[in-house]
Amino acid sequence: MDFEPTSRAKAFHDKLFDFFNQEVLPLHRDWVRQVMRERREPDFLSALQAKARAEGLWNLALPDLTDDQPGTGLTNLEFAPLAEIMGRLPWGSQVFNCQAPDVPNMAMLQALATPDQKTQWLDPLLNAATRSAFAMTEPDVASSDASNIATKMAFEGDKVRINGRKWFATGGAHPDCSFLIVMGVSDPDAARTERQSMVIVPTTAPGVTISRTLNYLGWEDHVAPIAQIELDNVVVPAQNLVGERGRGFKGAQVRLGPARIHHAMRCIGMAEMLVELMIVRARERTAFGRSVIDYDTIQRWIGEARVEIDMNRLAVQRCAWLLDQEAARDSWRPVSMIKISVPNMLQKIADRALQIFGAMGGLDDLPIHHAFAYARWFRIGDGPDEVHLRQIFRSEPQPEWALKDSPYLSVPNLGEQKLRVAE
Ligand SMILES: Cc1cc2nc3c(=O)[nH]c(=O)nc-3n(C[C@H](O)[C@H](O)[C@H](O)COP(=O)(O)OP(=O)(O)OC[C@H]3O[C@@H](n4cnc5c(N)ncnc54)[C@H](O)[C@@H]3O)c2cc1C
Repeated sequence: MDFEPTSRAKAFHDKLFDFFNQEVLPLHRDWVRQVMRERREPDFLSALQAKARAEGLWNLALPDLTDDQPGTGLTNLEFAPLAEIMGRLPWGSQVFNCQAPDVPNMAMLQALATPDQKTQWLDPLLNAATRSAFAMTEPDVASSDASNIATKMAFEGDKVRINGRKWFATGGAHPDCSFLIVMGVSDPDAARTERQSMVIVPTTAPGVTISRTLNYLGWEDHVAPIAQIELDNVVVPAQNLVGERGRGFKGAQVRLGPARIHHAMRCIGMAEMLVELMIVRARERTAFGRSVIDYDTIQRWIGEARVEIDMNRLAVQRCAWLLDQEAARDSWRPVSMIKISVPNMLQKIADRALQIFGAMGGLDDLPIHHAFAYARWFRIGDGPDEVHLRQIFRSEPQPEWALKDSPYLSVPNLGEQKLRVAE
């Protein structure tokens, strides 16, 4: 493994760093005012996206672009430091068309969509001309076990009829979201993991109702508002099937790798931003006759944050590097590991930032509140910690020897000891 950035990666990093500091960060106050307070789309976003695109800073998160698709084709490892910069602001990724859930949806369509589907659904996403959502989770079943998904998908000739209820479809409540990728049961009698299919459902199809927008821990995802959706006798063409019928589970894996690693990369950037905020705030406040930065507890928290950020960054980079190796593309284990470790790291650092800022820390005047909510949801979204840990446990090599035969056991086995005492 060589983590030294390539000259191409360095050049992109420097360019994006300058663009972010000069063009994006100064607009953050406007973004908060317009989007969070006045509840409207930012009036500067399209122009800013056009500027980023003209600079070649567009679709940086998709390694498998074809020559006729706009973007850079950076590897996952090359993208990691760029995602960190974007992750510093809740809306940073959107400027460069690198936001969830559109990127994982694009990656899945690149891999599985037919040429017609690519023209109709993928190309507009690549050009930020539309938005999308992935609708798997359901309020009525434990969706961390995706085989519980109950939405019905009846294939009737050249049509599919869909009935069900979804929630937590990130992006589904955005006014520009034109389609959902819906997971449902098409083949109820097939094996447990071969019952589900994925179908593209336009949000304008009769029977689709976005019944409400969901806030998570008080955070409304303004970039990709989260929807609860009713699907009542929705009928779409059977050619909207994504990938093979009954192979929805396998197909969904294609989007989960990029989704998880990109969230982890953004989390590292958020943690860096929090450390800066903590230092600045602690330096500027005096309590009980001392600068807050001079208290051992505060110095220890910041020191620990540095250790945890650097360790997690290395794990994310290793994971990105592995995903870049063709043979390791299906490698879920390193992805699961960072999916657990990184949000737990961010949650701890965000909690300490909240503490250092005192009452102010919890206000939505600062991005600490966003970072905390992001860390907390990421411990559940894309699979709860417990599910990933169980899978890691199950893939752990099981030693074939019994303890009594182990060379690590330096005392005779207990049964023999008892016999000798009896003699
Ligand atoms: C902010 C946010 C955004 C999301 N975005 C999307 C999206 O875009 N599309 C989408 O389809 N879904 C999305 N989700 C949903 C998310 O993927 C699910 O919430 C998640 O898979 C868990 O499903 P559940 O909520 O039904 O919890 P349940 O399945 O009911 O699980 C609840 C708890 O049970 C425990 N548990 C479950 N299995 C095990 C196990 N094997 N071992 C030990 N304990 C276990 C865990 O503690 C788990 O948290 C989002 C969620 C959030 C919070």
